[in-house]
Amino acid sequence: MKTAYLALGTNIEPREEHLTSALEMLQEDNKIFISQQSSIYETAPVGYTDQADFLNMVIEVETSLLPIDLLDFCQNIELQLGRKKVIRFGPRTIDLDILVYNQENRKTDNLTIPHPRMHERAFVLIPLHEIAPNLLLYKSDKTVSDYLNELSESDIKDVTRWTYKDSAEE
Ligand code: ADP
Ligand code: MG
Repeated sequence: MKTAYLALGTNIEPREEHLTSALEMLQEDNKIFISQQSSIYETAPVGYTDQADFLNMVIEVETSLLPIDLLDFCQNIELQLGRKKVIRFGPRTIDLDILVYNQENRKTDNLTIPHPRMHERAFVLIPLHEIAPNLLLYKSDKTVSDYLNELSESDIKDVTRWTYKDSAEE
């Protein structure tokens, strides 16, 4: 079994349901075991700001799947959940990224691990920090904690803890 970290994101309602469905589909496979999961965070969109806020979370899995098969599995989940909605070119119901796989480094057309942009994304580092603050990234001596400390206040201010109750009160 190898340890991997996955990031989940969604900005189409029902957002929490999409996270739950993705977690269930991962858990159902006997080659994937979810060993840790972060809280859910709500994140203002970066880049294209003219879209709804995201829910983001990070999980740790133990898996016997090879990286490329894990990616395949994740993309199947994206496809299955995405197909529930018929919004062409719209935001996706679920985005599943492999952040880290067993400290392996590889760069192919379909898969780059560790994920090359995670260290600049507060919506990834904040939930990852919750479950793996001392994880080393990019074969460096820097941990998730170190990378999180390098982010500016303006980067992290848009990522807040989310609960279902908060949403119902709005
Ligand atoms: P983003 O996740 O940056 O918003 P997409 O999900 O649309 O973008 O990117 C999908 C493509 O990224 C896929 O075709 C996949 O092959 C590629 N990819 C490369 N590395 C990874 C990774 N570590 N995790 C997930 N997808 C990856
Ligand atoms: Mg993706």
